[in-house]
Amino acid sequence: MSDSHDFATLGLSPSMRDNLAALGYEQMTPVQALSLPHILSGKDVIAEAKTGSGKTAAFGIGLLSKLDVKNFKIQSLILCPTRELAEQVAHELRNIAKFKHNIKILTLCGGVAFGPQLGSLRHGAHIVVGTPGRILQHLKKESLNLNHVKTLVLDEADRMLDMGFIEEIEKVISHVPKQRQTLLFSATFPDEIVGFASTIQNNPEMVKAASEEVANNVKQYFYHMPSRSKLANLMKILYEYQPKNVIIFCNTKIETDEIAKALRSKNIDALALHGDLEQYERVDVLVQFANHSCPILVATDVAARGLDIKELSMVINYDVPHSQETYTHRIGRTARAGREGIAVTLFDEYETEKVEPYRDETRSFLDTDALKYDKNFAMQPAYMTLVIEGGKKSKMRAGDILGALTKDARLPGSSIGKIDIFEKQSYVAIEKPYIKKAFSQLKEGKIKGKNFSVWILE
Ligand code: AMP
Repeated sequence: MSDSHDFATLGLSPSMRDNLAALGYEQMTPVQALSLPHILSGKDVIAEAKTGSGKTAAFGIGLLSKLDVKNFKIQSLILCPTRELAEQVAHELRNIAKFKHNIKILTLCGGVAFGPQLGSLRHGAHIVVGTPGRILQHLKKESLNLNHVKTLVLDEADRMLDMGFIEEIEKVISHVPKQRQTLLFSATFPDEIVGFASTIQNNPEMVKAASEEVANNVKQYFYHMPSRSKLANLMKILYEYQPKNVIIFCNTKIETDEIAKALRSKNIDALALHGDLEQYERVDVLVQFANHSCPILVATDVAARGLDIKELSMVINYDVPHSQETYTHRIGRTARAGREGIAVTLFDEYETEKVEPYRDETRSFLDTDALKYDKNFAMQPAYMTLVIEGGKKSKMRAGDILGALTKDARLPGSSIGKIDIFEKQSYVAIEKPYIKKAFSQLKEGKIKGKNFSVWILE
């Protein structure tokens, strides 16, 4: 096995390599360098890899390299613990799949309507990414055929087992041919995982990327404070670090709402993300956070699972997490792919015992006494988000929206941020001073010769 981190050592097709370069993947991450030679040679692999390690591209490059586009059958199945992770994985795979035309990737997850999934399945797909429960439902209804799967991936396997998916996973796997490649990725390796892997894999290569690599790029601070002073101290922390964007983790849903509201009342723009949101509300929140229309996301662990926000500068643990594993997951969201990040954990008198296991030389324990605060401090985003009621279904493309805004409304190109196009809706980030102009243009004018409903997310 090569110890080089250069993609050139892998013998990938030139188009795959060009596309990886276009995505800005200059070098392999440790988990990619260790696992890809095995994956590409067709071996089973069991890899210890956390979110942020580049694991999706590791299995993605592998399964896409051997995909036969002309064979319009499901050739790869990726099982994920949550819809959010499945969507994130599908997104990353679609980026990597750009090296070839017409690769069809489908997500099949619970929590969304069944009917449209049946329709999509009838149209066929090469790759399915989904959650075990919903995949099994499709198998039972015979709307899904896994007889041609060559690569099976279990992503965040520890998490799937934690969530009690083992039986469903076993049933799903019984529909996949025995002659296959099985890749298992997991952040932790309890005995249960090792035992389970041995039942579904064949002589796997074990890969353990230096997981500390993620944590090493994260500066970790623990702030001690008197009880009932967390909110005030949270503001001081924000003032002290003034992050570009930050996820604040809480242990309960109610807290996420309360904190987001309290921050907004202090001129600090924040949105709450928790499991009670409707799917459309969730998308609205995530899009605004990712496109810099809102600098702060206040989230529970479950809701934030699988979120991939590029360039997240900071993570704050408003509560000490229930387990060290959760802590690692939380802080792993910042400092992705080699960037630096900051993780701050707040703890009061009641939580002093809970933070004891975290004391080591890589973490600084500080007191909030030294922190200052200016009450004029505000955290307001540079952008606001416009929603257009037209998406992929109406063949909407980013260029159409860009054209309407820059040519027709004469907005400078630099005032337009990220454009996200979903099935039925599109979102466009616009610099605040231009939002009204953009809104009235899109409301009165046309895109692709048609009128669309438009509104501003506030
Ligand atoms: P993951 O661990 O799959 O969640 O990936 C974390 C992030 O790293 C994603 O945003 C990927 O797009 C990015 N990434 C994956 N591989 C590379 C690479 N070789 N170089 C730079 N970024 C990468």
